[in-house]
Amino acid sequence: MQNILIIEDEKRVADLLKTGLEENGYRTMVAYDGVMGLRLFRSYPFQLVISDIVLPKLDGFELCKEIRKSNVRIPVLMLTALGSTDDKLDGFDAGADDYMTKPFDFRELIARVKVLLKRDTGTVNRPPEHVSYADLSINFSL
Ligand code: CA
Repeated sequence: MQNILIIEDEKRVADLLKTGLEENGYRTMVAYDGVMGLRLFRSYPFQLVISDIVLPKLDGFELCKEIRKSNVRIPVLMLTALGSTDDKLDGFDAGADDYMTKPFDFRELIARVKVLLKRDTGTVNRPPEHVSYADLSINFSL
């Protein structure tokens, strides 16, 4: 079963996400602030992170950067009431894979979650075919 970490300080939204995702067969854990979210992320294995941006203690952008420092591959879906293009670009700069604006349609959220999880498993265990470092280049497919 796939584990999803939900980081959302609005309890109503967090509950909605938790219930909806669990009804769709996912296991979830909820954090209500950024610091707690990061602590859970470091303590348990997750396949996906869904994070709000405006959060107490540590915001979603900083949280996403911290996640990228320790695990570059896990998909991060940012969920927020902030909907301007600048905010979205900041989210992608911080390392988010996708972005949804509140209020959202739950069916769309589930569809995006499925795509992100598929993209993730698609890259697992696939060794690099070509690695280059400085002027040294190695082709593993030879
Ligand atoms: Ca919030």
